[in-house]
Order: sequence, then structure tokens, then C-alpha cells
Amino acid sequence: MTIDFSLSPEQEAIRSLAHEFADKEIKPRAAELDRISDPAAIFPWDIYEKGNRLGFNKTLIPTKYGGLGLGEVETCLVVEELSWADGGIGSTYFVHAMQLLTLGESGTEEQKAKWFTACANDPEERFFMSLPWTEHGVAGNLSPRDFAAGRMDNGPILPHEWAMHRTVPPAEQREMTTVAIEDGDDWLISGTKRFITSAGRSKLLLTSARKGAESTDGAGFGLFLIPADAPGVSYGHIEDKMGQRLMQNAEVIFDNCRVPKSDEFTNYRTAPRVRGGDVEVAAVFNGIARRAYEEALAYSRIRYKGGARIVFHQAMQMALCDMAIKVLTSRMLMLRAAWENDQERGFNAYNNMAKIYSSDVAVDVTSKAMQVFGGYGYMRDFPMEKLYRDARLGPIYHATNEMMMVGQLIPWLAAMDTIY
Ligand SMILES: Cc1cc2nc3c(=O)[nH]c(=O)nc-3n(C[C@H](O)[C@H](O)[C@H](O)COP(=O)(O)OP(=O)(O)OC[C@H]3O[C@@H](n4cnc5c(N)ncnc54)[C@H](O)[C@@H]3O)c2cc1C
Repeated sequence: MTIDFSLSPEQEAIRSLAHEFADKEIKPRAAELDRISDPAAIFPWDIYEKGNRLGFNKTLIPTKYGGLGLGEVETCLVVEELSWADGGIGSTYFVHAMQLLTLGESGTEEQKAKWFTACANDPEERFFMSLPWTEHGVAGNLSPRDFAAGRMDNGPILPHEWAMHRTVPPAEQREMTTVAIEDGDDWLISGTKRFITSAGRSKLLLTSARKGAESTDGAGFGLFLIPADAPGVSYGHIEDKMGQRLMQNAEVIFDNCRVPKSDEFTNYRTAPRVRGGDVEVAAVFNGIARRAYEEALAYSRIRYKGGARIVFHQAMQMALCDMAIKVLTSRMLMLRAAWENDQERGFNAYNNMAKIYSSDVAVDVTSKAMQVFGGYGYMRDFPMEKLYRDARLGPIYHATNEMMMVGQLIPWLAAMDTIY
């Protein structure tokens, strides 16, 4: 027998530990925390500290540095269960896990020993990592925040202008303006990053910057390890998000931040395999989708309408079947991708597919589940509206699904004649 879909006893143990934690510590409080209007006042450190004491931020740290030495399958199981109770908490762990993977693959032995150990032995149990990468960019004359402030006076694009449309030449593209300037044995980094998960809460930043002001997009980027409290690092606007409010997202501002050259990832991008956290993000949305399905099924068993409980109405049956199929297939794709990664088989298209599919499934399933609840699905004292808001982030962050398809998945598909 070569195919076995069952979890090992160890995997089942960590999955049920995470589920029990999610059920007891997160689920009873998530809705109330989500309602706090000030985004700076939400981040529930006590929940995160307890989770970290159980090892949830250490699954991917090798045992020789004090971590749990587990793989991506186990990490996905943890993130999925936490997200079942709250997508924002799941996302905090997904982003952290993604950085652990990058450190493991691209870090030197000294970098790994220093930072893996710092995370595994953090006495406060508050060690999270951030990836300050995204910026608003400078292409065009209006920034997104200008637009939000009502300045949208570019005017329509007229038919004859389509013919004259030209893309920005590569040499002029500057979507990343954060720059690292060489200064002896150091880099001096300046620029502003936006939307950064755990910014202001994390202890280590894996920061991207353009090396030298002249280098163009796609070339000459570096990735730097920067302690979150380093001189020259500060934090700006905290985002007031539609969902996933139990994670924090904020601006990270670098002002001549001095980074020793030894804190750069010199083999970033040339590392044998940059797995990128796609399966861990898929786990967030599999958790949200499964919860929505479970809530809809439970409600359909108690709600009487049209002479029967609504689970006996065919339209509701089809909705529930559709949800169940999507939740199950999405999870199988995630586990396949995570398993492939753990077998060290090299980067594979399953990762991209798992992120894209799980996030689309979560939006679809939470929407259908909301429909099963009828009017109550739209009410804030019922679970569905939060699940829908939390799910809606999936196709947008970590790279939009469109970007991931055109930039990452299609090159893989085009290199193959068939799908497996
Ligand atoms: C809650 C949240 C958390 C985040 N956390 C982090 C983080 O921790 N670290 C970090 O670095 N970033 C983070 N991000 C940023 C996130 O990765 C970006 O928002 C995302 O990649 C989209 O970029 P953008 O917002 O600039 O959208 P844009 O790039 O402006 O995209 C706008 C639209 O254009 C489409 N589009 C863009 N380019 C193309 C193309 N080439 N072809 C076709 N369509 C295209 C997009 O799909 C989208 O529909 C976070 C964002 C959010 C909302």
C-alpha cells in the first residue's frame, strides 16, 4: 500500500491540542474582541502567549534550536484549527510560520542559531515575525490613500488613449521605494511598508529593500533581518480592517536604519526552495470555511420553515453538499501541498493552487452558509457575518489570487503537458 490519507498519532495529537485550545480559549472571546472599534486595542496578547506556550509559534523550529521540529503538515493542522475559531489569530501564525520557513531555507547557520533560539526561548512567549514587503508604490500620480481622501481626478480613459497606452518601461519601474544604501560593512535602509501583519507586535522583521536607488523592480531586491526595536524603525498607521481584526496590520517606517551586512539573506531567491507559506495561508481559509459549514449544518437542523426543518428542503441540501465538497477538496489540496513540501521534493504548483483555491472556497462557503441562516446570517449576534468578513481577505493578501495565477502558477502549468 503506498497511499495513506490518515494522520499519524502525533499529527492527530497536535491537531486536537490546537482544536481544544481554539474551542476553549479563542472561540468564546473572538466575537467580542472583533467588535472593539480601536484597531490598536484588539491584539489579545494573553491568547497569543498561551498559544505560544503550547508551541504554536515553534512548530517549524528544529529541535536543536529548542523548537518542536515539526513540518508543514503539522503547522497547517495547527493554523487550520486556530482559524476555525478566529481567522485573524490564524493569520498571525501563518505569517510567522512563513518567516520561519524563509529563515530555515535562506538563513546562514549563525542567523538561524540566533533567531530560532530567540523565538524558541522567548521568556515572554511573544515572539512573532513580520514580513515588511508591500508598499503603495510610486507608479501613477495618485496614491491609494489620495484616492480614499477623495482626490480621484485622473478623468476617464478615452477610446483613442487605449491605442497609445504603454506600460512603464522596466528601467523606470519603482513599485518598491524602500532602499538599502551600502555604507561600509552596513546597509542603511529607508522607506515605508504598509499593511504589515503583526507590525508593532512582532520582534523580528524580514524586510525587503531595493539595493541601491538605481536598481529596478524584480532585480536587486535584498531581504534583511531587522530586530523590531532597532534604531531607525518606527510604526505608523494601524489599519482598521473589515475582518481578521485579531491580527494587527500597520505601517513600518525605516529611517536610515543601520543593518550589518551579516544580517542580510545572501542566498534569498537562489535558495533551493522558497516555499512561501502558501499552504499555511490555505490553512487559515480551510479553518474558516469548515467552521462556516459546521455552523450552517447545525442551524439547518434546528430551524423550522415551510413545514420542516430547513435541512429537509432540497435547496438547503444542495447548498450544504456543495459546501462540504469544497471544504473537503480544499483541505486535501492543502495537505497534499504541505506533504510535498515536507518530503523536500522541491517547489511545486500545489502550493499556489492551495492558496488560491482555499481562499475562493472560503468566500463561497461563508456566503452560502450565510444564506442558510437567512436574515440571521446578516445579524452581528450570529456567527456568519464575521466568518464572511474574515474569509474575504483570502483572495486579496499574500498576493492577490490574480497576481498569484499570472505571476506564479501559470509558469508552472505552462512547463507541464498535463496536470499530474
Ligand atoms: C490584512 C492584510 C495583511 C497583509 N499583510 C502583509 C504582510 O504581512 N506583509 C506584506 O508585505 N504585505 C502584506 N499585505 C499586503 C498584500 O500582500 C497586498 O495588499 C496584496 O499583495 C495586493 O497588493 P496591493 O494591495 O498593492 O494591490 P494592487 O497591486 O494595487 O492590486 C489591485 C488590483 O490589481 C490586480 N493586479 C495587480 N497586478 C496585476 C497584474 N500584474 N495582473 C493582473 N492583475 C493585477 C490585483 O489582483 C488587484 O485586484 C497585507 C494586506 C492585507 C489586506
